[in-house]
Amino acid sequence: MLFYQNFVHIFNLKMQQSYLEIDGAMGEGGGQVLRTALALSICTGKAFRINQIRAGRKKPGLQRQHLTAVRAARDISGAQLEGDEIGSTTLTFVPNGLWSGNYHFAIGTAGSTTLVLQTVLYPLLLAEGESRLSLTGGTHNIHAPPYDFLVQVFLPILNRMGPQVTVSLDRYGFYPTGGGQLTVHITPTPKLSGISLMERGKIIAHQARALITRIPEHVALRELERVAKKLKWSEDCLHHCPLSRDQGQGNVLLLEVQSEHITEIFTGFAQRGVRAEAVADGAIKMAKNYLAAEVPVGEYLADQLLLPLALAGEGEFMTLAPSRHTLTNIEVIQMFLSVHITQTQLRRDAWRIGARQN
Ligand code: AMP
Repeated sequence: MLFYQNFVHIFNLKMQQSYLEIDGAMGEGGGQVLRTALALSICTGKAFRINQIRAGRKKPGLQRQHLTAVRAARDISGAQLEGDEIGSTTLTFVPNGLWSGNYHFAIGTAGSTTLVLQTVLYPLLLAEGESRLSLTGGTHNIHAPPYDFLVQVFLPILNRMGPQVTVSLDRYGFYPTGGGQLTVHITPTPKLSGISLMERGKIIAHQARALITRIPEHVALRELERVAKKLKWSEDCLHHCPLSRDQGQGNVLLLEVQSEHITEIFTGFAQRGVRAEAVADGAIKMAKNYLAAEVPVGEYLADQLLLPLALAGEGEFMTLAPSRHTLTNIEVIQMFLSVHITQTQLRRDAWRIGARQN
């Protein structure tokens, strides 16, 4: 029986004629190429084969977080897979449907839970029934959206497009120990509606929060001092937020800018050997660029909004100069969907990104 199953599996994979061939080294050559391909493969039913996975990264190939994303994508779509191993640089993915429901995805390391969510979110929000996900791993990882960004920045916009997605943080997970947990509820929508984010409106409020656990308090205080000095934010906007010791060990600085039409967050992630002032400076620089450009959408949100806009088949936003993530994501999206995504420079540091169905 096992032999027969394996035979059918291999036979089916070989029989599938129309694979999209994706070069994982394209553009910025990171995990986003893979995540976008997985999400859109399930949404469109198109099988794909990717090689040179994460060729642009120091440790190329599938790491635990990517492997968890691949298997999560398989679980919700009944996909057939080849190459789902740690370190693998090639993967064949043949989706076979879409099942909403209750899922638990455990990364097993501090790999980012929010990036695993990025992979399965889009199919599940177009599925027939509701889903409840529990994800364990990292919740505040460098090079990934922290939980706060997901909930305060990204989801409010996505929810304006039709679905209802809520995420709660059950436990923090910082690098390198992880152990964090998110619970996600997804109420799908039959069709995503387009959105226009061309103005940010007046700035209503701003605040800096330095989250810290099992790291000397002065680290958070120095970060906040730096914000006061460089952004001239008053003391009542600066919040030192100690977390209880059972939340692991870590520190992030979150700079939140709330405007009439959008909230943005710029994050500095503490790292061993990096001074608190340098952690703060990275986030401050991003916040300053954003404030000066007077655009609604920051660099990270821009690459993350492309997928919902493309699935809606219409929409636009104004942002900073497109990052390599944004340019690469546009390329991958246009391989799967019949959508035209344009980038038009409006001012020195303001661009319009628009999506329109072909
Ligand atoms: P990749 O490097 O290809 O794995 O993609 C990283 C993803 O994380 C992209 O969608 C980025 O927009 C997102 N990202 C990285 N850093 C941040 C941050 N500080 N805040 C929000 N999103 C982030």
